[in-house]
Parts: sequence; structure tokens; C-alpha cells
Amino acid sequence: MAQIKHAVLLYAMQDEATPLIRRLELADKGFLAPPMPMRWYDGAIDGLRIDVAVMGSDRRFGIDCIGTQPAAVATQIVLDRLNPDLLINAGTCGGFIKRGGAIGKVYLTGGPFYFHDRRIPLAPFEKYADGGWILSDVAAWAKALGLEQGVVSSGNSLDMVAEDARRIERVGAHAKDMEAAAIAWVADQYQKPLCAVKAVTDLVDGEHPTHEEFERHLHTASEALSEAVEKLLRLIARQSIR
Ligand code: SAH
Repeated sequence: MAQIKHAVLLYAMQDEATPLIRRLELADKGFLAPPMPMRWYDGAIDGLRIDVAVMGSDRRFGIDCIGTQPAAVATQIVLDRLNPDLLINAGTCGGFIKRGGAIGKVYLTGGPFYFHDRRIPLAPFEKYADGGWILSDVAAWAKALGLEQGVVSSGNSLDMVAEDARRIERVGAHAKDMEAAAIAWVADQYQKPLCAVKAVTDLVDGEHPTHEEFERHLHTASEALSEAVEKLLRLIARQSIR
């Protein structure tokens, strides 16, 4: 990857982002682009400039703007306004026991980023619907940090219907989330490198209902996530600044 002096982190939920914002004592810059709900924080770590965008709170429902459309819009805003050298999507995900997943496990990946809930059985649109973007090579970073790389699959549902499961199985996804592929599409238009750091809150193929597990482990996973993100940022700073 080219020299990285400035990275932007994209988080869906405030609870996922707060541990890193506290850890790095980032400044609260308010709304990123009113009237959109995204929040903005900035700072630096070991000479690397960083900005954090969090999707913010939904105007109507007063809850975090999770899912693909806020993620895509936020990505375009940060690419237009902040123009970083690297995008990092940090967040939680569902993991899979059958692929080595465990609560709190953290994946670092440059892709592929797939969608699993876009079904368009018209030949030229099928591949477009699935995505499968690879937008950076993070093998060296993953090795240095002892993190596993993985395939991410995104959709707009927390639960998983049989057809989603089939598609997730087909691509061998390690992480099931609701934002990464949407961010990847925008990053690809701008030809910007993107990597994702995803911490497992729930085991999709486990015995517990996803929403219960998610709520139980959100705090622990977000702490593990912020620790991994801080290490990654320090590594990038060491490699790029001097
Ligand atoms: N009830 C929760 C909703 C969280 S939705 C709440 O409001 O507190 C899940 C969020 O975490 C999304 O942003 C998604 O990217 C990620 N996520 C975690 N586990 C997931 C899973 N099993 N499937 C899809 N997304 C998941």
C-alpha cells in the first residue's frame, strides 16, 4: 500500500466506537455533514492523522443508523471531505464456529467483501449483486498483529434466512455484518484502499439466539475491537510516517 499518513475509521454503532475514542482521546467534532446524522471525531496516534465517523442516531427512531445505506453515504462524505489514504471499517460481526469463530475473536481483512441478501438472477447483474471486492492486502499487518484474515459478508438483517445462509456458505464467510460491502462499493468507485476490523459478538451457527448473544457480548467485543484497532493504527504509523 502507498504511504499512509491519514486513516478514516467508519463505525456503525456508537457503543462500538466509544472505547477507541476514549483510548485515543479523540476530539468530538460534532456532526460530520448536517443534516445527516453521522458523528465525527479526530486526532492522531504516533503521528498518523485519524478521523472517526460514526453513523449516528436515526432522526425518527433514535437508534444507531446500522445497515448499508448510512454506511455508503458516510463513506462518500468522508472520501469527499477528508480524502484519507486508507479507510478502515471497524465493528462487530456474527462469527461461525465451523470456521473457527469465537466470541471476541477479531478479524482483519482487505476482502473479499460480499453481499448475501441481494438476489438478482439476471446473468450480468448476479455478480454485481454479490460484490466480492478486494480492496487492500493486509496479510503483513494481520501476521504482525496475530489476527486472522477473513471473508466478510454483509446484508441488512441481523437474523439469517436459509437463502442468506446458502450464499454465506458459498463464499465461506467468517464475518457476517451489515455495512462492510456497502462501504466497499463506494471505496471501489474512488479506488481507495479499505480494510475491515471485525470483532465477533455472536455465533451465527451457535445455539443462542443472535440478538441475545449480540447484546450480551457487545461490550466485550467492542473492547477487543478497540484494542486491535489501536494496535493496527500504531503499526501503520510506524511503517508509514518515518
Ligand atoms: N439490537 C442491536 C442491533 C445491532 S445490529 C442494538 O441495537 O443494540 C448488529 C450490528 O452489529 C450491525 O452494525 C452489524 O454490522 C453488526 N453485527 C453483529 N453481529 C451481526 C450478525 N450476526 N449479523 C449481522 N450483523 C451483525
